[in-house]
Amino acid sequence: METRLSHFTTFRLGGPCRELATVADASAAADVVRAWNAAGLPWRVLGGGSNLLVADAGIPECVLRIAAESPDCRRAADGTLEASAASPLDAVAAFAAETGQGGLGFSSGIPGTVGGGLCGNAGAFGRQLGDVLDRVEILTRAGERRLLPRSALAFAYRASALPQMGVLVMRAWFRTEAGDRAALQAERENVLALRREKHPDWRVEPTAGSFFKNLPPEGGGGLRRAAGTFLEQAGAKQMRAGGAFVFAKHANIVMAGPGATARDVATLAARMAAAVRERFGFDLEPEVRFWGAV
Ligand SMILES: Cc1cc2nc3c(=O)[nH]c(=O)nc-3n(C[C@H](O)[C@H](O)[C@H](O)COP(=O)(O)OP(=O)(O)OC[C@H]3O[C@@H](n4cnc5c(N)ncnc54)[C@H](O)[C@@H]3O)c2cc1C
Repeated sequence: METRLSHFTTFRLGGPCRELATVADASAAADVVRAWNAAGLPWRVLGGGSNLLVADAGIPECVLRIAAESPDCRRAADGTLEASAASPLDAVAAFAAETGQGGLGFSSGIPGTVGGGLCGNAGAFGRQLGDVLDRVEILTRAGERRLLPRSALAFAYRASALPQMGVLVMRAWFRTEAGDRAALQAERENVLALRREKHPDWRVEPTAGSFFKNLPPEGGGGLRRAAGTFLEQAGAKQMRAGGAFVFAKHANIVMAGPGATARDVATLAARMAAAVRERFGFDLEPEVRFWGAV
């Protein structure tokens, strides 16, 4: 049955896909993948839809949505924190703090799933998921389960080898350090408060967070340079296209206001990038992934 992807993206944009199946575990995913492969149907993987801009006309593929409402995570026998890829990342971060497992506090409040987070090496405050990952269970496109160590995933800033490998993340094991629960909860509250100050609430306001990647540090060392600083100086906060506009508190965040289309968002992002190119002479690279002919 045709399903509109706007129901499954935080921009709340995106037309229909050919078929959509939601799964939370590897055996259910393998069943769907094998059936689609046998029928010769092309397919893609979706997590929480919080880093995607899907075309208004939709996409011709089927979509396997690996996502669940509540987390499936535990402390594994080897001391790592084991979580299903479908788990909401923030709920896993909350579980880690509640159970005295330190190291995931930075990921508090990042929308989306564990699988989507690993695919793009989600991070904040200078830390990213690849730093704390031990291993993953993946499903190949043929539907076979395998374990891969972190070293196989080539993590880099907001990137991993997972998209090129074309595999599906089904479970992940994170290396955590024993920590004081109260201190970890306080760290989490602090991170959430900082995020509330400068990010929109995606549950209420449609967005996919930062649209462009930050820039490499100047001269090779130090901190990455915030794309938002350049965008602000290039006048991005005053820009809009149709129903899409730039978040007042952060020049790198595009919002889909009432009546906005994916085309509006893409048009606005192109204008923002063009303004930075004109003023500073370099190209911003989108962090948000595009699906279909946006
Ligand atoms: C308000 C807001 C704030 C944000 N803040 C941050 C932030 O601080 N840091 C940050 O890094 N990001 C941030 N983001 C962006 C987004 O939340 C992250 O990129 C997130 O990790 C995406 O996860 P997802 O499950 O939603 O992935 P999706 O958007 O569903 O998918 C992203 C990519 O991952 C692939 N994928 C998804 N699940 C799997 C799987 N199980 N196996 C293989 N591939 C998979 C998809 O095919 C797609 O290519 C923010 C977004 C919003 C809306």
